[in-house]
Amino acid sequence: MRSLIILIDGLGDDPIPAWNGQTPFSRAFHPQMDRLIKKGSLSQVSICEDDVTPGSLTCILRLLGVPKELFPSNRAYLELLAQNRDVSEYEMVLRCNVISQDSGGRLVSFNGMGLTSREMEMMAQQFSSLTPDIEFIHLSGYRNLLVMNRNERVLQTQTAPPHESMGMPVVELLAELKTSSLAMKMFMQETDAILRMYNRNDMLYRLYPWGASCRTEMPAFAKLNGISGALVCQTEIVRGIGRALKMEVPELSYCTADIDTNIREKLAVTRRMLEQYPFVMTHFNGADEAAHRHDYEGKADFITRIDKEFLEPLLDKTDEPLRIVICGDHVTSSVTGKHTRGKGPVIAAVTKSGAHSRRNIATYRDIVNFLMKESEYDG
Ligand SMILES: [Zn+2]
Repeated sequence: MRSLIILIDGLGDDPIPAWNGQTPFSRAFHPQMDRLIKKGSLSQVSICEDDVTPGSLTCILRLLGVPKELFPSNRAYLELLAQNRDVSEYEMVLRCNVISQDSGGRLVSFNGMGLTSREMEMMAQQFSSLTPDIEFIHLSGYRNLLVMNRNERVLQTQTAPPHESMGMPVVELLAELKTSSLAMKMFMQETDAILRMYNRNDMLYRLYPWGASCRTEMPAFAKLNGISGALVCQTEIVRGIGRALKMEVPELSYCTADIDTNIREKLAVTRRMLEQYPFVMTHFNGADEAAHRHDYEGKADFITRIDKEFLEPLLDKTDEPLRIVICGDHVTSSVTGKHTRGKGPVIAAVTKSGAHSRRNIATYRDIVNFLMKESEYDG
Protein backbone atom coordinates (compact mmCIF):
# COMPACT_ATOMS: atom_id res chain seq x y z
CA MET A 1 0.00 0.00 0.00
CA ARG A 2 1.27 3.49 -0.81
CA SER A 3 1.79 6.19 1.79
CA LEU A 4 1.22 9.94 1.47
CA ILE A 5 2.09 12.48 4.12
CA ILE A 6 0.58 15.92 3.54
CA LEU A 7 2.79 18.20 5.56
CA ILE A 8 1.18 21.56 6.27
CA ASP A 9 4.11 23.59 7.60
CA GLY A 10 3.37 25.18 10.99
CA LEU A 11 -0.14 23.66 11.08
CA GLY A 12 -0.59 23.82 14.85
CA ASP A 13 -1.31 27.19 16.42
CA ASP A 14 -2.23 28.93 19.65
CA PRO A 15 -5.86 29.72 20.52
CA ILE A 16 -6.78 32.97 18.74
CA PRO A 17 -8.35 35.47 21.18
CA ALA A 18 -10.42 37.16 18.43
CA TRP A 19 -11.92 33.73 17.65
CA ASN A 20 -12.81 32.83 21.24
CA GLY A 21 -9.85 30.50 21.42
CA GLN A 22 -10.39 28.63 18.15
CA THR A 23 -7.26 27.83 16.13
CA PRO A 24 -6.88 28.25 12.34
CA PHE A 25 -7.24 24.45 12.01
CA SER A 26 -10.48 24.31 14.00
CA ARG A 27 -11.76 27.44 12.26
CA ALA A 28 -11.02 26.18 8.72
CA PHE A 29 -13.69 24.33 6.73
CA HIS A 30 -12.23 20.88 6.05
CA PRO A 31 -14.90 18.27 5.37
CA GLN A 32 -12.40 15.92 3.64
CA MET A 33 -10.08 15.95 6.63
CA ASP A 34 -13.10 15.27 8.82
CA ARG A 35 -13.93 12.27 6.63
CA LEU A 36 -10.42 10.93 7.19
CA ILE A 37 -10.64 11.56 10.94
CA LYS A 38 -13.88 9.54 11.03
CA LYS A 39 -12.18 6.65 9.25
CA GLY A 40 -8.93 6.94 11.17
CA SER A 41 -7.78 9.19 13.95
CA LEU A 42 -7.04 12.75 15.05
CA SER A 43 -4.39 13.24 17.69
CA GLN A 44 -2.23 16.05 19.05
CA VAL A 45 1.52 15.50 18.72
CA SER A 46 4.70 17.52 19.22
CA ILE A 47 7.16 16.35 16.53
CA CYS A 48 10.17 18.18 18.01
CA GLU A 49 9.33 16.96 21.54
CA ASP A 50 11.89 18.56 23.84
CA ASP A 51 15.08 17.38 22.20
CA VAL A 52 15.31 19.11 18.80
CA THR A 53 14.63 22.67 17.59
CA PRO A 54 11.02 23.38 16.57
CA GLY A 55 11.95 24.13 12.95
CA SER A 56 11.17 22.66 9.54
CA LEU A 57 14.63 21.19 8.99
CA THR A 58 14.70 19.06 12.15
CA CYS A 59 11.02 18.15 12.27
CA ILE A 60 10.77 17.17 8.60
CA LEU A 61 13.94 15.06 8.82
CA ARG A 62 12.38 13.36 11.83
CA LEU A 63 9.16 12.62 9.91
CA LEU A 64 11.29 11.16 7.11
CA GLY A 65 12.80 8.65 9.51
CA VAL A 66 16.21 10.32 9.99
CA PRO A 67 17.66 9.83 13.51
CA LYS A 68 18.73 13.09 15.13
CA GLU A 69 22.40 11.97 15.35
CA LEU A 70 22.43 12.36 11.55
CA PHE A 71 20.82 15.81 11.39
CA PRO A 72 23.08 18.29 9.59
CA SER A 73 24.18 21.11 11.86
CA ASN A 74 23.53 23.82 9.31
CA ARG A 75 21.03 24.82 6.67
CA ALA A 76 23.39 26.42 4.17
CA TYR A 77 24.49 23.16 2.55
CA LEU A 78 20.90 21.96 2.14
CA GLU A 79 19.89 25.31 0.64
CA LEU A 80 22.71 24.91 -1.85
CA LEU A 81 21.51 21.41 -2.79
CA ALA A 82 18.05 22.88 -3.34
CA GLN A 83 19.61 25.08 -6.05
CA ASN A 84 20.82 21.92 -7.85
CA ARG A 85 24.32 22.83 -6.75
CA ASP A 86 26.80 20.96 -4.61
CA VAL A 87 30.27 21.56 -3.21
CA SER A 88 33.30 19.32 -2.98
CA GLU A 89 34.98 18.46 0.30
CA TYR A 90 37.48 21.25 -0.45
CA GLU A 91 34.80 23.94 -0.43
CA MET A 92 32.24 25.32 1.99
CA VAL A 93 29.04 27.33 1.85
CA LEU A 94 27.78 30.21 4.00
CA ARG A 95 24.41 31.89 4.32
CA CYS A 96 24.56 35.60 3.52
CA ASN A 97 21.82 38.06 4.49
CA VAL A 98 21.40 41.63 3.32
CA ILE A 99 21.12 43.51 6.61
CA SER A 100 20.84 47.15 7.60
CA GLN A 101 22.34 49.13 10.43
CA ASP A 102 21.43 52.51 11.86
CA SER A 103 23.69 55.56 12.17
CA GLY A 104 24.99 54.13 15.45
CA GLY A 105 26.09 50.95 13.67
CA ARG A 106 23.42 48.77 15.30
CA LEU A 107 21.67 45.97 13.46
CA VAL A 108 18.13 47.13 12.66
CA SER A 109 17.03 44.57 10.07
CA PHE A 110 18.18 41.09 9.09
CA ASN A 111 16.16 41.13 5.87
CA GLY A 112 17.17 44.20 3.87
CA MET A 113 14.17 46.13 5.16
CA GLY A 114 13.25 48.98 2.81
CA LEU A 115 14.81 47.41 -0.29
CA THR A 116 12.66 45.92 -3.04
CA SER A 117 13.21 42.36 -4.32
CA ARG A 118 14.27 43.92 -7.62
CA GLU A 119 16.96 45.99 -5.89
CA MET A 120 18.23 42.93 -4.05
CA GLU A 121 18.40 41.02 -7.35
CA MET A 122 20.37 43.88 -8.89
CA MET A 123 22.79 43.87 -5.97
CA ALA A 124 23.25 40.14 -6.40
CA GLN A 125 24.25 40.66 -10.02
CA GLN A 126 26.90 43.15 -8.96
CA PHE A 127 28.29 40.71 -6.40
CA SER A 128 28.31 37.67 -8.64
CA SER A 129 31.44 38.68 -10.53
CA LEU A 130 33.22 40.56 -7.77
CA THR A 131 35.95 38.07 -6.99
CA PRO A 132 36.97 34.64 -8.25
CA ASP A 133 37.50 33.55 -4.62
CA ILE A 134 33.88 33.80 -3.49
CA GLU A 135 30.86 32.76 -5.53
CA PHE A 136 27.71 34.70 -4.70
CA ILE A 137 24.43 32.79 -5.19
CA HIS A 138 21.19 34.75 -4.88
CA LEU A 139 18.28 32.73 -3.45
CA SER A 140 15.41 35.19 -2.97
CA GLY A 141 14.82 38.52 -1.27
CA TYR A 142 17.53 39.15 1.32
CA ARG A 143 18.75 35.54 1.23
CA ASN A 144 21.96 34.53 -0.52
CA LEU A 145 24.69 31.91 -0.29
CA LEU A 146 28.46 32.22 -0.60
CA VAL A 147 30.61 29.36 -1.87
CA MET A 148 34.36 29.49 -1.25
CA ASN A 149 37.33 27.28 -0.55
CA ARG A 150 37.15 25.39 2.70
CA ASN A 151 38.78 27.34 5.50
CA GLU A 152 38.86 25.91 9.02
CA ARG A 153 39.01 29.34 10.67
CA VAL A 154 35.89 30.49 8.83
CA LEU A 155 34.14 27.21 9.68
CA GLN A 156 34.96 27.62 13.36
CA THR A 157 33.80 31.24 13.52
CA GLN A 158 30.50 31.39 15.38
CA THR A 159 28.93 34.46 13.79
CA ALA A 160 25.62 35.05 15.58
CA PRO A 161 22.48 34.55 13.45
CA PRO A 162 21.41 38.06 12.36
CA HIS A 163 17.73 37.53 13.33
CA GLU A 164 18.88 36.85 16.89
CA SER A 165 21.23 39.84 17.06
CA MET A 166 18.97 42.83 16.54
CA GLY A 167 20.22 46.04 18.17
CA MET A 168 23.80 44.80 18.45
CA PRO A 169 26.81 46.54 16.84
CA VAL A 170 27.36 45.03 13.38
CA VAL A 171 31.11 45.68 13.35
CA GLU A 172 31.51 43.56 16.47
CA LEU A 173 29.19 40.83 15.22
CA LEU A 174 31.25 40.43 12.05
CA ALA A 175 34.71 41.13 13.51
CA GLU A 176 35.83 37.53 13.95
CA LEU A 177 34.62 36.45 10.51
CA LYS A 178 36.33 39.39 8.84
CA THR A 179 39.73 38.42 10.23
CA SER A 180 39.25 34.70 9.61
CA SER A 181 40.21 34.84 5.92
CA LEU A 182 41.75 37.37 3.56
CA ALA A 183 39.27 36.51 0.81
CA MET A 184 36.39 37.17 3.19
CA LYS A 185 37.89 40.47 4.34
CA MET A 186 38.35 41.71 0.76
CA PHE A 187 34.87 40.56 -0.18
CA MET A 188 33.26 42.38 2.74
CA GLN A 189 35.16 45.58 2.02
CA GLU A 190 34.20 45.59 -1.64
CA THR A 191 30.55 44.75 -1.03
CA ASP A 192 30.32 47.46 1.66
CA ALA A 193 31.56 49.97 -0.91
CA ILE A 194 29.00 48.88 -3.51
CA LEU A 195 26.14 48.87 -0.99
CA ARG A 196 26.76 52.51 -0.10
CA MET A 197 24.83 53.57 -3.18
CA TYR A 198 21.70 51.93 -1.79
CA ASN A 199 21.80 53.86 1.48
CA ARG A 200 18.67 55.72 2.53
CA ASN A 201 18.58 58.38 5.21
CA ASP A 202 20.57 56.95 8.09
CA MET A 203 20.17 53.35 6.98
CA LEU A 204 23.34 51.56 5.89
CA TYR A 205 23.04 48.23 4.06
CA ARG A 206 25.65 45.48 4.37
CA LEU A 207 26.15 41.82 3.68
CA TYR A 208 26.14 39.54 6.69
CA PRO A 209 27.75 36.13 6.02
CA TRP A 210 27.16 33.49 8.71
CA GLY A 211 26.44 29.81 9.31
CA ALA A 212 29.35 28.29 7.38
CA SER A 213 28.91 24.63 6.61
CA CYS A 214 30.62 22.03 4.50
CA ARG A 215 29.49 19.03 2.55
CA THR A 216 27.30 16.80 4.72
CA GLU A 217 26.78 13.25 3.54
CA MET A 218 23.38 11.96 4.60
CA PRO A 219 21.98 8.44 4.28
CA ALA A 220 19.52 7.81 1.46
CA PHE A 221 15.83 7.80 2.41
CA ALA A 222 15.47 4.39 0.76
CA LYS A 223 18.30 2.98 2.83
CA LEU A 224 16.92 4.40 6.07
CA ASN A 225 13.36 3.25 5.57
CA GLY A 226 13.50 0.35 3.15
CA ILE A 227 11.22 2.10 0.63
CA SER A 228 11.86 4.74 -2.03
CA GLY A 229 10.20 8.10 -1.88
CA ALA A 230 9.50 11.48 -3.49
CA LEU A 231 9.18 14.92 -1.93
CA VAL A 232 6.82 17.42 -3.61
CA CYS A 233 7.68 20.91 -2.38
CA GLN A 234 8.78 24.36 -3.45
CA THR A 235 10.39 25.63 -0.22
CA GLU A 236 14.15 25.61 -0.74
CA ILE A 237 15.16 24.04 2.55
CA VAL A 238 12.67 21.22 2.07
CA ARG A 239 13.86 20.61 -1.50
CA GLY A 240 17.38 20.48 -0.09
CA ILE A 241 16.31 17.85 2.46
CA GLY A 242 14.86 15.72 -0.34
CA ARG A 243 18.02 15.96 -2.41
CA ALA A 244 20.29 15.26 0.56
CA LEU A 245 18.27 12.08 1.24
CA LYS A 246 18.43 11.19 -2.49
CA MET A 247 14.66 11.25 -2.89
CA GLU A 248 13.01 12.36 -6.12
CA VAL A 249 12.27 16.10 -5.87
CA PRO A 250 10.24 17.00 -8.99
CA GLU A 251 10.40 20.50 -10.47
CA LEU A 252 7.33 22.69 -9.89
CA SER A 253 6.60 25.64 -12.17
CA TYR A 254 3.77 27.51 -10.49
CA CYS A 255 4.26 26.94 -6.78
CA THR A 256 5.30 29.87 -4.58
CA ALA A 257 5.96 28.36 -1.11
CA ASP A 258 3.26 30.70 0.27
CA ILE A 259 -0.55 30.85 0.53
CA ASP A 260 -0.89 31.94 -3.12
CA THR A 261 0.68 28.69 -4.35
CA ASN A 262 -0.75 26.64 -7.19
CA ILE A 263 -2.42 23.75 -5.36
CA ARG A 264 -3.56 22.17 -8.63
CA GLU A 265 0.01 21.73 -9.80
CA LYS A 266 0.96 20.18 -6.46
CA LEU A 267 -1.93 17.76 -6.80
CA ALA A 268 -0.98 16.74 -10.35
CA VAL A 269 2.67 16.18 -9.40
CA THR A 270 1.71 14.33 -6.20
CA ARG A 271 -0.48 11.96 -8.24
CA ARG A 272 2.35 11.35 -10.68
CA MET A 273 4.77 10.62 -7.83
CA LEU A 274 2.28 8.24 -6.16
CA GLU A 275 2.25 6.20 -9.37
CA GLN A 276 6.02 5.79 -9.13
CA TYR A 277 6.85 5.68 -5.43
CA PRO A 278 5.50 3.85 -2.37
CA PHE A 279 6.11 6.95 -0.23
CA VAL A 280 5.36 10.58 -1.06
CA MET A 281 5.60 13.69 1.10
CA THR A 282 3.75 16.77 -0.21
CA HIS A 283 4.70 19.94 1.62
CA PHE A 284 2.61 23.14 1.87
CA ASN A 285 4.53 26.10 3.26
CA GLY A 286 1.87 28.84 3.24
CA ALA A 287 0.37 28.09 6.66
CA ASP A 288 3.72 28.76 8.35
CA GLU A 289 4.29 31.98 6.36
CA ALA A 290 0.82 33.28 7.22
CA ALA A 291 1.29 32.53 10.93
CA HIS A 292 4.66 34.36 10.93
CA ARG A 293 2.73 37.38 9.59
CA HIS A 294 0.12 36.93 12.38
CA ASP A 295 -2.38 36.30 9.58
CA TYR A 296 -4.56 33.63 11.20
CA GLU A 297 -7.37 34.26 8.71
CA GLY A 298 -4.99 33.60 5.81
CA LYS A 299 -3.78 30.45 7.52
CA ALA A 300 -7.30 29.13 8.06
CA ASP A 301 -8.28 29.97 4.47
CA PHE A 302 -5.22 28.14 3.19
CA ILE A 303 -6.14 24.99 5.16
CA THR A 304 -9.66 25.25 3.69
CA ARG A 305 -8.16 25.48 0.19
CA ILE A 306 -5.93 22.44 0.73
CA ASP A 307 -9.00 20.46 1.79
CA LYS A 308 -11.06 21.59 -1.21
CA GLU A 309 -8.48 21.82 -4.00
CA PHE A 310 -6.05 19.07 -3.03
CA LEU A 311 -7.68 16.53 -0.75
CA GLU A 312 -11.16 16.39 -2.30
CA PRO A 313 -10.02 15.58 -5.86
CA LEU A 314 -7.28 13.28 -4.54
CA LEU A 315 -9.67 11.19 -2.44
CA ASP A 316 -12.35 11.16 -5.16
CA LYS A 317 -10.02 9.80 -7.78
CA THR A 318 -7.94 7.36 -5.75
CA ASP A 319 -9.20 3.82 -6.21
CA GLU A 320 -6.43 1.94 -4.46
CA PRO A 321 -6.11 1.96 -0.68
CA LEU A 322 -3.81 4.78 0.42
CA ARG A 323 -2.27 5.42 3.80
CA ILE A 324 -2.55 9.15 4.57
CA VAL A 325 -1.16 11.36 7.30
CA ILE A 326 -1.93 15.08 7.47
CA CYS A 327 0.12 16.99 10.01
CA GLY A 328 2.45 19.93 10.59
CA ASP A 329 6.15 19.86 11.36
CA HIS A 330 5.97 22.26 14.32
CA VAL A 331 3.48 24.73 15.74
CA THR A 332 3.67 28.27 14.33
CA SER A 333 1.76 30.66 16.57
CA SER A 334 -0.24 33.36 14.76
CA VAL A 335 -0.33 35.17 18.12
CA THR A 336 3.44 35.50 18.62
CA GLY A 337 4.52 34.81 15.01
CA LYS A 338 7.00 32.22 16.30
CA HIS A 339 7.56 28.46 16.21
CA THR A 340 6.79 26.59 19.44
CA ARG A 341 7.24 23.10 20.86
CA GLY A 342 3.47 22.71 21.35
CA LYS A 343 1.33 19.91 19.97
CA GLY A 344 -0.38 20.15 16.60
CA PRO A 345 -3.11 18.10 14.93
CA VAL A 346 -2.20 14.79 13.23
CA ILE A 347 -4.74 12.99 11.06
CA ALA A 348 -3.97 9.37 10.15
CA ALA A 349 -6.19 7.12 8.04
CA VAL A 350 -6.25 4.44 5.38
CA THR A 351 -8.60 5.31 2.52
CA LYS A 352 -10.55 2.85 0.38
CA SER A 353 -9.97 0.05 2.79
CA GLY A 354 -13.05 -1.59 4.27
CA ALA A 355 -11.78 -1.74 7.78
CA HIS A 356 -12.32 1.07 10.21
CA SER A 357 -8.76 1.78 11.12
CA ARG A 358 -8.37 3.76 14.31
CA ARG A 359 -4.72 4.33 15.16
CA ASN A 360 -3.08 5.38 18.31
CA ILE A 361 -0.75 8.11 17.03
CA ALA A 362 0.88 9.65 20.08
CA THR A 363 4.44 10.44 18.93
CA TYR A 364 6.42 11.11 15.75
CA ARG A 365 7.59 7.47 15.90
CA ASP A 366 3.98 6.33 15.52
CA ILE A 367 3.65 8.52 12.41
CA VAL A 368 6.84 7.10 10.87
CA ASN A 369 5.80 3.52 11.72
CA PHE A 370 2.31 4.03 10.31
CA LEU A 371 3.68 5.39 7.02
CA MET A 372 6.73 3.19 6.49
CA LYS A 373 6.39 -0.05 8.44
CA GLU A 374 3.42 -1.21 6.49
CA SER A 375 3.10 -4.82 7.68
CA GLU A 376 2.72 -3.96 11.35
CA TYR A 377 -0.48 -2.14 10.53
CA ASP A 378 -1.76 -4.15 7.59
CA GLY A 379 -1.47 -7.46 9.46
ZN1 LIG B 1 8.43 29.03 10.05
